[in-house]
Amino acid sequence: MKKNKIKIAFDLDGVIVNKPPLVPKRLLEWLFKGGGSRLHYRFPHSNLEQMIRKISHFYLFRPPMGKNINFIKKIAKDDDYELYIVSSRYSFLKRETEIWLEKRNLEKLFKKIYLNEKNEQPHLFKEKVLKEIKPDIFIDDDEAIVDYLCQKTKTHIYCFSLKKVTPKPETNLFLSSLELLFR
Ligand SMILES: [Mg+2]
Repeated sequence: MKKNKIKIAFDLDGVIVNKPPLVPKRLLEWLFKGGGSRLHYRFPHSNLEQMIRKISHFYLFRPPMGKNINFIKKIAKDDDYELYIVSSRYSFLKRETEIWLEKRNLEKLFKKIYLNEKNEQPHLFKEKVLKEIKPDIFIDDDEAIVDYLCQKTKTHIYCFSLKKVTPKPETNLFLSSLELLFR
């Protein structure tokens, strides 16, 4: 009998793709969240802002997260696992995302790569996709999204963070290294 594979889904930015160096964190937060409530993400309607975002996603400005990628490459060789990317990057970043994954030779490691092509709010988009894939594990770096998804799905959700953080056992689990998943 065929045994069920363990499905693991990964967020892209902050888990596989690093933030651009040299761009102040405050500016990035403003660009993505607009400083409003925790679970509201701005969609850039102006051509200028979309262009800035496209440039900031040019593959050379977005370094790979080497340790995490090595881990993903390792488990991708193992037949027991089925891997997915679930990224809420908006539609206008589709091409940039494909190029980034091709340049790093990663696109074939995943059974499917989900991007937010209808420009939905990121947390709602991820909730919808997780309910479709029903992965065993999902790893995201946005604490607000992790908290939200923990309440909405049955998937084990982990928050990837390189910072030293105090875990909140009632809501989510922090991971500072993907290797810790299987310990
Ligand atoms: Mg992220």
